[in-house]
Amino acid sequence: MKLIDQYANSIHALQDVGQLFFQRGWSVGTSSNYSVVVNREPCQLLITASGKDKGRLAEEDFVLIDEAGQPVHAGQPKSSAETLLHCVLAKHAGAGSILHTHSVWGTLLSQYYFSAGGFAMEDYEMLKGLDGVVSHQHTEWVDIFDNTQDIASLANELSQRFVDGTAPAHGFLMRQHGLYTWGKTIEDARRHIEIFEFLFECLVRKQTLFDATGSPAGIG
Ligand SMILES: [Zn+2]
Repeated sequence: MKLIDQYANSIHALQDVGQLFFQRGWSVGTSSNYSVVVNREPCQLLITASGKDKGRLAEEDFVLIDEAGQPVHAGQPKSSAETLLHCVLAKHAGAGSILHTHSVWGTLLSQYYFSAGGFAMEDYEMLKGLDGVVSHQHTEWVDIFDNTQDIASLANELSQRFVDGTAPAHGFLMRQHGLYTWGKTIEDARRHIEIFEFLFECLVRKQTLFDATGSPAGIG
């Protein structure tokens, strides 16, 4: 049976995500990857195949993988190099969907704040779009992991952070690379991408508008 016959709703929802994110400039040049958990016991994820244009995902551009990131069926296209990160988030964060984007704003912030290990976002109304956040008076710390090409070791580090209770709350950045976030459903994860990307753009634009004292640049 073809994946589309079994998982049409999930595939169509991820195609919609791809079109939106491509149009917003968050998933251009075949970057990014998206997944949805389709089975818990055993854990199985439907994930985008490697190297596909996210604005024009075809119904065949998805792979069914197990919790170790291995394809469940023979003859499927190759999944993303970052597949193991999706597996860790499905297992440890209880995610039902994991979305990853490569935006200009996230890339700039991940470069600028890398030496500090991350940065805080606070007092923005849009923070209330993050799961469980009920007030704008919330501080969301965004961790920045190095852009290692050793995804297995990053996956280990990330799982350990969940075991230690120091895991990112809603998402994290990889240095000069992009954002990972997740949610219980595709809609929740998509909302998280929208919230993070909105706030990332605010933070970068704020730095170009305001000087270090918070005054508008060039005034006072
Ligand atoms: Zn990536």
